[in-house]
Amino acid sequence: MGALAAGAAAIVGFSVPAAPAVPESTVQNFAATPRQSPVDADYYLADASGHWAAPRCVGDGRSGPRVQPVFVHRKGSSNRYQQFRTVLQRSLSLTTGIFERSSGARRTVRWVHDTSCRPVIWQVGVPAAVSHNLVDLRAYLKDTQPRFRDPDRVYSLWVDATTSPEWSGLGDDRWSATWSSSWGFVWVDAHELVHALGALRPDAPHATGKGHCYDAYDVMCYRDSGPAWRNVIACPAPSAQYRLDCGDDDYFALKPRKGSWLAKNPGANVARSRFLARVASRVLPTEPPPATGVVRDADSVDWQVQPGVRYDVGVTDGDGSVAWLTQDNVTGSVSTWEVPTTSRVFVRAVNDAGYSQRIRARTSVVSATTSG
Ligand SMILES: [Zn+2]
Repeated sequence: MGALAAGAAAIVGFSVPAAPAVPESTVQNFAATPRQSPVDADYYLADASGHWAAPRCVGDGRSGPRVQPVFVHRKGSSNRYQQFRTVLQRSLSLTTGIFERSSGARRTVRWVHDTSCRPVIWQVGVPAAVSHNLVDLRAYLKDTQPRFRDPDRVYSLWVDATTSPEWSGLGDDRWSATWSSSWGFVWVDAHELVHALGALRPDAPHATGKGHCYDAYDVMCYRDSGPAWRNVIACPAPSAQYRLDCGDDDYFALKPRKGSWLAKNPGANVARSRFLARVASRVLPTEPPPATGVVRDADSVDWQVQPGVRYDVGVTDGDGSVAWLTQDNVTGSVSTWEVPTTSRVFVRAVNDAGYSQRIRARTSVVSATTSG
């Protein structure tokens, strides 16, 4: 696990409608272990903290149009689903939050979900040879499994494999994918899903001509080398990169301005997608406050638990790497007797909106008692 470059400014991803040409040297690398680990994925989710929202129940969770999340692993390699499960669920909250926070909480994603409103994530193994691009993946899954031929489904894939260094993710026509070899992975899910829902049309007012927009910042705008690219910062707020459609005029608006291009082209308006639900607005949460009373003694770390808040406890070593001792803990205590005293232990609060700051566990002073 290497160090990650800090603070990229915009969500990045590419849409290619046809099978991309892949250099031979890249193909040989497909057997390699993908670079990104669950801890790396968590780094990007932390950057997006404050923009998440819990997925909602929509009907029975199965009927009608739905978005189906899928974890794809390579046959013959280990299935790392259990290691990624927590960051994948949190990534679904980020995608949900992007749609809800862009719509006054009046549009939400119609996930396939269980009776607890939790999105159902499929796991599927594919041959390594088809794992590196969306065209091959889609063809393989459709050919081999009827459940991937449902016209009422969008298939949103996380692929634990190596892809071309040319892109972070791909999406079009009810299919989207991000790869664990990419720096984006869980971070570009929402971007690719918006592609799968049909954006951005090349005739949109601020279209680059390669599927994106140039009136930055928003989820779909970036410098993609499209022919119509212009350097425009129309939405400069730091949070704008986690909002859909700066200006409400290219691909997402609840009420497009009368006479505007988006009003005249309702089919280009993702807010009208059948894969989103019209829902009653709700108050969306903010990130939880940091944990308090965090103390480490000889064999555990303890802290004070707040209602509605869960806690992650991690260990950092000198090189900055992180390992989780527990995630989504609600007991306020975790054993640390196996953790070297030279390692730093921290506690981070998490809720439906995101993460708090990390609080380092201080070692309690145990006074020596003398008997005599
Ligand atoms: Zn894109």
